[in-house]
Amino acid sequence: MMFLERIEVTWIGDCLADAKKIRLKARLPRDISEVFLYLNAVLDNGLYNHHGRTFTFNKEFRRINLYPEELTLTKALNTTDAFQVLDETKALINETYENKDRIAPNYKKRVKPNALQIYELLPKTNCRQCEEPTCLAFAAKLLQGQQNIENCGPLKEPANSGLWEALEELVEVLG
Ligand code: SF4
Repeated sequence: MMFLERIEVTWIGDCLADAKKIRLKARLPRDISEVFLYLNAVLDNGLYNHHGRTFTFNKEFRRINLYPEELTLTKALNTTDAFQVLDETKALINETYENKDRIAPNYKKRVKPNALQIYELLPKTNCRQCEEPTCLAFAAKLLQGQQNIENCGPLKEPANSGLWEALEELVEVLG
């Protein structure tokens, strides 16, 4: 029997940073977190978070976030592209699991960012759309898991898509 038999898509929508691309959420029928350390060994662009129990990696410009029983994919070109990436991800997870006895687990993880690093990637307008008094307060809440980057309206403007992408990558380390 396969380790991961299917990836069940539960939601598809536009990417916030780039409306021409799509993102999706999917449910996994089992807890796959035991393969994260091995995926961290076989992929050189992976990002392992022990506390958050997440593993993130890129497939060219697309980003895949793995959680114990969930997966999100962002920046896919369209649904055909997304489903192909999901098939490849399933194959990668199964292959890694099958070979795990021959792979040395990699415990290396990204260092957690601080509030100032997050602040540097915010629009710094203190506009309060996020209902925080300042961008720095928003950064501190984001760090504590009490805010979400989607609540920063200016960050979703096309001119700030570069900031959005950099910030998205940074907060993924937080799990
Ligand atoms: S919505 Fe964004 S730009 Fe405005 S205060 Fe909050 S973090 Fe700063």
